Amino acid sequence: MSAPTEHLRELLRPAALGARPRVVVIGGGFAGLRAVRALRGSPVDVTLVDRRNFHLFQPLLYQVATGALSSGEIAAPLRAVLRRQPNATVILGDVRDVDLAGRRVLLDPAAGSDAPGECAYDLLVVAAGGRTAYFGHDEWEPVAPGLKSVEDALELRRRILLAFEMAERSDDPGTRAVWLTFAVVGAGPTGVELAGQIVEMARDTLRRDFRRIDPSTARVLLLEAAPVALPGFDRRLQERAARDLRHHGIELLLERMVVDISPEAISVREPDGTVRRIPTRTVIWGAGVRACPLAATLAAQSGLELDRGGRVPVDTTFTLPGHPEVFVIGDMARVDRPDGTPLPGIAPVAMQQGEHVGRVIAARATGAPAPAAFRYRDRGSLATIGRARAVGTVFGLRLTGLPAWLAWLGVHLTYLVGFQNRLFVFMRWSISFLTRGRGARLINEPWTTTGNAEVSVADEPAQSDATAA
Ligand SMILES: Cc1cc2nc3c(=O)[nH]c(=O)nc-3n(C[C@H](O)[C@H](O)[C@H](O)COP(=O)(O)OP(=O)(O)OC[C@H]3O[C@@H](n4cnc5c(N)ncnc54)[C@H](O)[C@@H]3O)c2cc1C
Repeated sequence: MSAPTEHLRELLRPAALGARPRVVVIGGGFAGLRAVRALRGSPVDVTLVDRRNFHLFQPLLYQVATGALSSGEIAAPLRAVLRRQPNATVILGDVRDVDLAGRRVLLDPAAGSDAPGECAYDLLVVAAGGRTAYFGHDEWEPVAPGLKSVEDALELRRRILLAFEMAERSDDPGTRAVWLTFAVVGAGPTGVELAGQIVEMARDTLRRDFRRIDPSTARVLLLEAAPVALPGFDRRLQERAARDLRHHGIELLLERMVVDISPEAISVREPDGTVRRIPTRTVIWGAGVRACPLAATLAAQSGLELDRGGRVPVDTTFTLPGHPEVFVIGDMARVDRPDGTPLPGIAPVAMQQGEHVGRVIAARATGAPAPAAFRYRDRGSLATIGRARAVGTVFGLRLTGLPAWLAWLGVHLTYLVGFQNRLFVFMRWSISFLTRGRGARLINEPWTTTGNAEVSVADEPAQSDATAA
């Protein structure tokens, strides 16, 4: 038996503790929630701490950002999800730090409340996920928001819809064209899906809604530093995706490194080394994710070095060296496959890790044999490009077009948390498919408050793409 397992057995021996072991889980995302659920019925007391009171289905955030779904339809209240799990308690709190030596989780003080500022644990599962990364250019964040939270999605929706409104208000064709230019950075699944939805919104949903502009003239640019779209996918699927994206009306610009973003334009380095400035008011950042800051505090206390993505390197026991009572899983953890390549930061990886760690703790708590060593089961990956158009692999089978799109629908409906959400999303998608409409097209803040739209269009001169050596 390995040292961590021996140690866990000790920790979970009721005589040693005199009480049920306290398991604290930080983060109710894909990894954390699976870990909590795997502990249902186990003789442990689980406390789930999250800064949000809901589980968020991030893969559908882009549909909120483009008005196809409402935020409530892709989020499930954690208390409701765990209502029937009596050994699980939910605490709404922002974890500021973890004290590994003192076995305490430190929470940000809740203003105006006498709530305890810490939470003691015998076993800790850290699954706090990641956040948008700007690769050393954090100054781009205000002008090129990412898509990681409900707030991000609503802000993007506001900016996208506002751009059409501002174009409608302008008398100048050049200014209109600038407002109707949308730049999406990063041709991973998020960028591809977002770009596809903006095109459909412009071409189908908004087609008859404006009087002075033709929304279908909108340009959607998808900028990618790599020479392929959907890096990480099979080469043939990448080629098919690139063809489909272009056929769909998206300007796919590969091998373009973003060098500057301002409220007025995005500048990219062209393959020939020149810099091209593209005037636009709407830039969306879909290019990078970094582990959340808690990873750094865990690494510092356990003598580990974070990887380039800010993730905590762990093996398939998911425990920190010297701290077998602490598990790190999901987007925060870097776990290498036997060939040395890291597991991707995707939902199935997070869910399988959560389930595994939950089962390890449950087995120890009941004295059952330990589960088999963790092995990631790759069932495939899918990305939609547009209506009835997607690419991906499912159980090793390469799919494109309508079959891929149907598989994508099925997978997302299956993994969406909550029966009600599944039903509503299915109904929304069916209605949208038939009518090409989008029911959630609200600009939910006054247009002058934040972001690119601060710039008044009325005073802007017409501009066109400019290239500089
Ligand atoms: C726009 C987008 C699209 C995506 N599309 C896909 C896709 O199509 N397919 C796919 O497989 N994957 C996709 N992913 C990736 C997938 O969503 C992640 O891999 C997955 O969410 C990781 O799960 P996790 O549990 O590690 O983190 P998360 O799901 O991010 O959960 C982390 C939880 O921790 C909480 N938290 C964070 N910090 C603290 C703190 N300090 N205190 C308390 N709570 C905290 C958060 O509120 C959150 O609930 C997408 C991600 C994004 C952003």
